[in-house]
Amino acid sequence: MRVQRLLVPVLLLTQTLLFSCTRDSYFLNNKAHEKQVKDRIQSLLEIPSTKQSNTDSLTINDQWIGTTNFSIRRPNFVVIHHTAQESLDQTITTFTLTRTQVSSHYVIGRDGTIVQMLNDYLRSWHAGRGKWGNDTDLNSSSIGIELDNNGSEYFSEQQIESLLLLLGRLKEKYNIPTANFIGHSDLAPGRKVDPNVYFPWKRLADAGFGFWYDEELMSPGFEQSKHPLPENFNAMDALRIIGYDISDPEAAILSFKLHFIKRDVDKDLSYLDQLILYNLYKKYL
Ligand SMILES: [Zn+2]
Repeated sequence: MRVQRLLVPVLLLTQTLLFSCTRDSYFLNNKAHEKQVKDRIQSLLEIPSTKQSNTDSLTINDQWIGTTNFSIRRPNFVVIHHTAQESLDQTITTFTLTRTQVSSHYVIGRDGTIVQMLNDYLRSWHAGRGKWGNDTDLNSSSIGIELDNNGSEYFSEQQIESLLLLLGRLKEKYNIPTANFIGHSDLAPGRKVDPNVYFPWKRLADAGFGFWYDEELMSPGFEQSKHPLPENFNAMDALRIIGYDISDPEAAILSFKLHFIKRDVDKDLSYLDQLILYNLYKKYL
């Protein structure tokens, strides 16, 4: 009788603890996130200082006159990654540890589960050092999407289906141009190789996310000799116009081939590779 009386509260306490553990496993993390967001809101409420220092010769009228004609800046690119990790849980852990200094707006699991980790309007740390066109701060201008993948495997059908649905929503909501769906390796040649060679870029382009070259170039009856390149065609200029940073030409070619050629990913551009590049670059003009 006495034991029973003791057991009931002990069991209740254990149940409560177990329940709050599952419910609140990210409680402290989410609290810290909320505090950081509130700090940013506070900084937006501050009236900008018109003078940076006494020696500053820049003069801006001291009178602050706030306009009401504004909104929050919108993302205009989507950058796709693979996580190079073993599971969705492992990636979530990585993105919730302060010391890693990396994150992304969305992570998509192999089973198609989408986890959002940051408001689209906030700046995630996923792109790092890189350049696309003249944009040198892709973290500021883009949404980052990480796909759970160990780096050398195929992407699952459920994962790609979820990705396409998410891209559709983002493209419509922020009016993101078709050309602005890129991979991490595109903006960071020589530094990044994700998403890996199995990533279905053509399928994305067919759905309106990024460009792809005309199918006829790959058809069995296609005769390369009947398609001369223009005399003044310059492959590096074409890569630059698409958006690649060509300061390291070999690295730019490797990134281009990882995205568009795939059948081999070396530093040489064959005649067919150049025809594909020529065909593509006209779409980016
Ligand atoms: Zn990446």
